[in-house]
Amino acid sequence: MTIHIDGRIGEGGGQVLRTSLSLSAITGKAFVIEHIRGKRKKPGLKRQHLVSVEAAASICGADCKGDSLNSQRLVFNPGKIRAGNYSFDIGSAGSCCLVLQTVLPILFYADSSSTVTIQGGTHNPMAPTADFLAKSFLPAIHRFGFNASLNLMSYGFYPAGGGKIKAEIRPAGDLPKKVELIERGPLLKKRARILLSKLPQHIAEREKKILLKQGWFETDEVEIVNITNSPGPGNAVIIILEYENVTCVFQSIGEKGKRAEKVAAEAYNAAAYHHKSMVPVENFLTDQLLIYLALVSNGTFLTSKVSLHSHTNMKIIEKFLPVKFVVKEIASGQKLNCTGKIFRSVHS
Ligand code: ATP
Repeated sequence: MTIHIDGRIGEGGGQVLRTSLSLSAITGKAFVIEHIRGKRKKPGLKRQHLVSVEAAASICGADCKGDSLNSQRLVFNPGKIRAGNYSFDIGSAGSCCLVLQTVLPILFYADSSSTVTIQGGTHNPMAPTADFLAKSFLPAIHRFGFNASLNLMSYGFYPAGGGKIKAEIRPAGDLPKKVELIERGPLLKKRARILLSKLPQHIAEREKKILLKQGWFETDEVEIVNITNSPGPGNAVIIILEYENVTCVFQSIGEKGKRAEKVAAEAYNAAAYHHKSMVPVENFLTDQLLIYLALVSNGTFLTSKVSLHSHTNMKIIEKFLPVKFVVKEIASGQKLNCTGKIFRSVHS
């Protein structure tokens, strides 16, 4: 039976497509999506989305119709997931991390280990950076029983791209019976990394000054990283808060015309807001953990506010997996609960 997805659902962006691709490959259920990215100004498959389709299709031997640039309709009929050493090139500064987000769940259900190398942007606005994936996301899903590591081989910023990441993915074994992330525990370590490629040094110095002015970071907690292996200019401020039970990463990406002070303040404000909230899981990690929570099929975590993005993702996941999400408002935030039948891979 083919699952029908309306790409205008909820947030109506690229996530609807990526989650559908991952879960279609894992469950073996075909899907057709109409109005791809229907709520975006320029709907349809852009480079990053098309590479996600091609990558998912090559890993599970899917038969596709509508897999072309700007297409607003896709039919995806998956086959068997194959482990392997895969390489994908976005061919622009589109986000490598979002392509990895698509294929990672699939390769956890292959019968042996795989590697995936992806070329494109590694530090894009509106997407997880390679730092976010390596330091926050992968350790979080490790708690859920999914093991992968990430190597950032070269940095890629918009518009030049040219970044490269390589992930090693091990098949998921027995998953835990239940996962919980309610208490984050004390803050053990905090640090900021200011990334600078082919831009004047004063940009990074001004960002460092803004971070130190807030009085939260010590001088030795703020590091300027001069990047020499990126083909183009780029800048990002990354803040890493390591709590006992979870690591949270906040990022702000420099752009032409955006003042260095604003870049630093954005990352700082997001980190400070989260720290004050006392919850373990921040907004972006929430939507990225949902698939894994559903695959474990029994778990709870606490976040400050469940975004439209997350609500949209939950609806798509419920179309493919026999689970039910419930979000409950409690005094300290929003409690997100997932229950259902444990999913057994159709491929094993
Ligand atoms: P579209 O162009 O259609 O918006 P998209 O494919 O670029 O689509 P979204 O559907 O908006 O993407 O999904 C963006 C993904 O990037 C989400 O998983 C979100 O959690 C993640 N993301 C966005 N901003 C951040 C951030 N600051 N830190 C970590 N992850 C982020």
